[in-house]
Amino acid sequence: PRDTRSVRDYIRTIADFPKEGILFRDVTTLFADARGFRMAVDQLLTPYAGERISKVVGLEARGFILGGAVAHQLSVGFVPIRKKGKLPGAVISEAYALEYGEAVMELHDDALQPGERVLIVDDLLATGGTAAAAIKLCERLGAQIVGCAFVIDLPDLGGRTLLEGLGHDVHALTE
Ligand code: 5GP
Repeated sequence: PRDTRSVRDYIRTIADFPKEGILFRDVTTLFADARGFRMAVDQLLTPYAGERISKVVGLEARGFILGGAVAHQLSVGFVPIRKKGKLPGAVISEAYALEYGEAVMELHDDALQPGERVLIVDDLLATGGTAAAAIKLCERLGAQIVGCAFVIDLPDLGGRTLLEGLGHDVHALTE
């Protein structure tokens, strides 16, 4: 019989991780399945056919796994955005608010050229704080954001509304 599972069927939910009361959407089961992983990578790209993307930017850490595969599929380069203190070269930084306190994301200051057409990739969109910081970093180097692609959108947390309000395209495979 034909396998009719969709991307969401490969995602597992783990209760009380990383803290009590949180339902964590675990994509390791998606990445571990050959068919599931290929479907996810292909579907992340479907809206962007013909868009002349010049770089894929992946967000630490699961955005590296997806973004690397997406970049390979497009035959373009991959650029990481990392948490503070992880990138070895000269960086630019953006701070953003978390539930408690703040976090800082960084990008090598020579990783993108002005006018580059960037696709941002991550596993999950929640409040949109991480992606908004990533967009700012790319735009500070003069890059143009073609879109932001996620496997999962948690719509109640407002990330899509935030990013679309900033004028950006948001693509998610499942809610
Ligand atoms: P945001 O900044 O949109 O609030 O949070 C999104 C970031 O947190 C993403 O980098 C994502 O990987 C991570 N994240 C938050 N909750 C989850 C979750 O339930 N599952 C996974 N896989 N990642 C999450």
